[in-house]
Amino acid sequence: MAKRVYEVWKGNNVFICGGRLIFGPDARSLLITISLIVVPIVIFCVFVARHLLHRFSQHNAGYAILVVTIAFTIYVLLLLLLTSARDPGIIPRASHPPEEEFSYETSAPSGGGRHTPSLQFPRTKDVMVHGMPVKVKYCDTCMVYRPPRCSHCSICNNCVERFDHHCPWVGQCVGLRNYRFFFFFVSSSTLLCIFVFSMCALYIKFLMNDDYPTVWKAMKHSPASVVLMIYCFISLWFVGGLTGFHLYLIGNNQTTYENFRYRADNRPNVYDQGCVNNFLEVFCTRVKPSKNKFRAYVSEENSRPPIIGSREPEPEPESTSEPRSKVEDDLEIGGELLKISRRRTSGEVDEELGGRNSTGMHSVVSESELVSRRRSGTWEISQDIVGKTQPFTGA
Ligand SMILES: [Zn+2]
Ligand SMILES: [Zn+2]
Repeated sequence: MAKRVYEVWKGNNVFICGGRLIFGPDARSLLITISLIVVPIVIFCVFVARHLLHRFSQHNAGYAILVVTIAFTIYVLLLLLLTSARDPGIIPRASHPPEEEFSYETSAPSGGGRHTPSLQFPRTKDVMVHGMPVKVKYCDTCMVYRPPRCSHCSICNNCVERFDHHCPWVGQCVGLRNYRFFFFFVSSSTLLCIFVFSMCALYIKFLMNDDYPTVWKAMKHSPASVVLMIYCFISLWFVGGLTGFHLYLIGNNQTTYENFRYRADNRPNVYDQGCVNNFLEVFCTRVKPSKNKFRAYVSEENSRPPIIGSREPEPEPESTSEPRSKVEDDLEIGGELLKISRRRTSGEVDEELGGRNSTGMHSVVSESELVSRRRSGTWEISQDIVGKTQPFTGA
């Protein structure tokens, strides 16, 4: 029976609901994060908001506090789910190195590229972004040239577009497709902290107006308020600080990764388009569709293609995870398969990587099928293999 993409996924992700939801490998920490939100809110509703219900002359104001608290908490949890349960912008892996970049010289390239006696390709290349050259690197694991701002997350073991960081609190990479939700999650959590803190302070004030004339007596009467205020105060430093930091990053069009990595370099930021445009880019552009179809079927062939010629093929074990050996041993070059563009603009590279999926030609052909042969220094395409490269079916 044909397997689905998520069942043979090579990244370290955790899938649930039949591949509809994708998490990082540390998705369990999400439960801690959820409890850090839900537990204080339950305490607040039971020990504080409940007593505020009838405190206002306009009777509904007290209920409004409770309703706002619950609705806002649900909103925050939804943002958390949108951040952690979706594809952050994973670049689909290729099944072989980019053949268009091969050259057949025996001398090492100046860029420090690695090579085999008859095969080599550059490890980095330049693409133009807003008229400035940006170096993009080749990823051994994913066997693609990473688009600009893409980085390989060692925790998830995927290349992620506009990689910001891997967030252990949400158990997921933060990248191109979930950065907006991540920011809204952090900033909304900040507002929730301020709201709960203020309401607790208000309750203490009400108690002081009643039978507890001093702050201490009022606080003694409602220890839950005190605990919540301390908790919110500490959390505020964390989420509030994070919100401020990300506002700064968005204003400068930087990722956390770039900020930490290139801070010392003092290099110009080619992505900076002015503060307003930077904000528009993050908040007002359409979220790109995922380049992965996790629920699509993988065409699985148990039989190998017939071996032509005198030399035994060098079959690639399906389970291999040795990227270096793939570079050298993966002998298949299907002309239809990988089209990493030589064109030198990031947009085009992006488009090309995306287009690879939209045409349905994807790296879902199992590596064991990619058996081909090296003959007199050239690479050949097995027609069987090209034929087996099927478009996605179902989703
Ligand atoms: Zn990678
Ligand atoms: Zn990650």
